[in-house]
Amino acid sequence: MRQADWDVIIVGSGIMGLSSAYYIKKHDQNKSVLVLEKEKTYAQGNSGRSVAGFRDFFSTDINFKLARSSIEFYRHVQHKMGYDLGMKYVGYLFLMSNRKFRSMEPIIRKLQKSTKMDIIDQEDLKKITDLNFELKKEEQSLLSLEPIEVGVLGRNCGILDIEKLSSFYYEQCKELGVEFKFDSEVKDLKISPTDPIGYPGEPFLWQNKVVSSVATKNQEFASRAFVFTMGAWTGKLLDRIGVDSHMRPKKRFVYQIGGSGIKDIIHNSFGLNDESVFPFTIFPSHGVYIRPYPQNSTFWVSTSGTTSDQEIGETFSYDSMDNIEYVQPTEEYFNYNILPILRAYLKELDNFKISSSWTGYYSLNTQDKTPYIFKFLNSVVATGGSGAGLMKSDSIGRIVSSILLDEETTELFDHSRVTNGAIGIIDRDVGIESLRF
Ligand SMILES: Cc1cc2nc3c(=O)[nH]c(=O)nc-3n(C[C@H](O)[C@H](O)[C@H](O)COP(=O)(O)OP(=O)(O)OC[C@H]3O[C@@H](n4cnc5c(N)ncnc54)[C@H](O)[C@@H]3O)c2cc1C
Repeated sequence: MRQADWDVIIVGSGIMGLSSAYYIKKHDQNKSVLVLEKEKTYAQGNSGRSVAGFRDFFSTDINFKLARSSIEFYRHVQHKMGYDLGMKYVGYLFLMSNRKFRSMEPIIRKLQKSTKMDIIDQEDLKKITDLNFELKKEEQSLLSLEPIEVGVLGRNCGILDIEKLSSFYYEQCKELGVEFKFDSEVKDLKISPTDPIGYPGEPFLWQNKVVSSVATKNQEFASRAFVFTMGAWTGKLLDRIGVDSHMRPKKRFVYQIGGSGIKDIIHNSFGLNDESVFPFTIFPSHGVYIRPYPQNSTFWVSTSGTTSDQEIGETFSYDSMDNIEYVQPTEEYFNYNILPILRAYLKELDNFKISSSWTGYYSLNTQDKTPYIFKFLNSVVATGGSGAGLMKSDSIGRIVSSILLDEETTELFDHSRVTNGAIGIIDRDVGIESLRF
């Protein structure tokens, strides 16, 4: 087996890789840590393609904990460390029918005991004059729309600037001495016996083994330990060695829409926050949402749709070029899938245009919509953000570092504790996230 050049190699420099590198190195500065990334710089994968919202609105204790502590940390970075992350507490406004509200009420009431969350009745919602409460019968039935009857406003929720957040971790890593190699796609992994006997075909079933090295096109890197944070690409690499990463890549299109009509809506908070910005709003049907981008008076529009039956037909796969840059969202998709829903729920939507669009992949855990963080051999895997990984990433980085040290629990920034095994595979005990929209 080749002599290890590094103590820890991390593959993937999205937000999970960056926060993992930071906490591993912070814990022991004598450790040599290398991050390998296929793109030209960090956070160009799905972190950079996300809509960068944060919320602590989850049904399971674990998701709530991971998000709450990370949000607390980001707030600390912005307010105490003086590092602007562009955090704005604009709130998450979930619009829903009475029927949906009743089904979610026990969770919402429970959450109200732990975080700031308001229930807004239809009369008060009507102050948001841009919303449409009277769906046309034909439209409602054709598009399977539920009416806006209740609003649930998460107040410990909002938006941040992902470039700033990832730069924060990157700069901290650099300061601590973490090394980065960009343009370095890992193509292969080598498994070796811990005590080689020199026979061809090693390692055999009965030998103890480790991941000994990873290889890019031009170079092999040997390390004592590895962390795999390749987001939606995790399966692509780990499938090669028979490690199930329990996630599937699911394509999402994001459209940026602006124009005079939008400008009027976006800079009015209707008293729902102190930021004078329209909240991050999720409409009652098909997971369609609008995320304000106040810097240039636009909305980012997309669908969360991680479970909706309407979505069936879309593949779990990578683009044939396997390069997310190559998949451009089409205007047809917007016009025929998203626009009819936006028009039904928003009144003044005539004066708008699409100014840009991009594609990303959720690394979707289809079962419980909670990240997977687990150890195999001398390696830790963190993936399965399921469309909500940024807002949990500080906690995830801490857990990765703790699992690498074989600790049983992790103390998060807000001093709450997570049992490491519970978020893994064999002893998984996270419940099923039921807040899906
Ligand atoms: C449209 C969209 C909207 C979203 N909105 C939100 C939101 O509002 N809030 C939220 O919290 N989350 C959101 N998410 C989810 C969030 O973006 C992810 O959970 C998070 O970015 C995952 O981080 P990551 O580090 O695991 O993955 P990534 O950021 O994708 O990082 C993985 C990295 O690994 C690199 N890589 C892959 N394979 C290799 C290889 N073989 N060798 C070397 N490098 C490799 C990639 O280039 C990439 O840089 C959204 C996602 C999408 C797609």
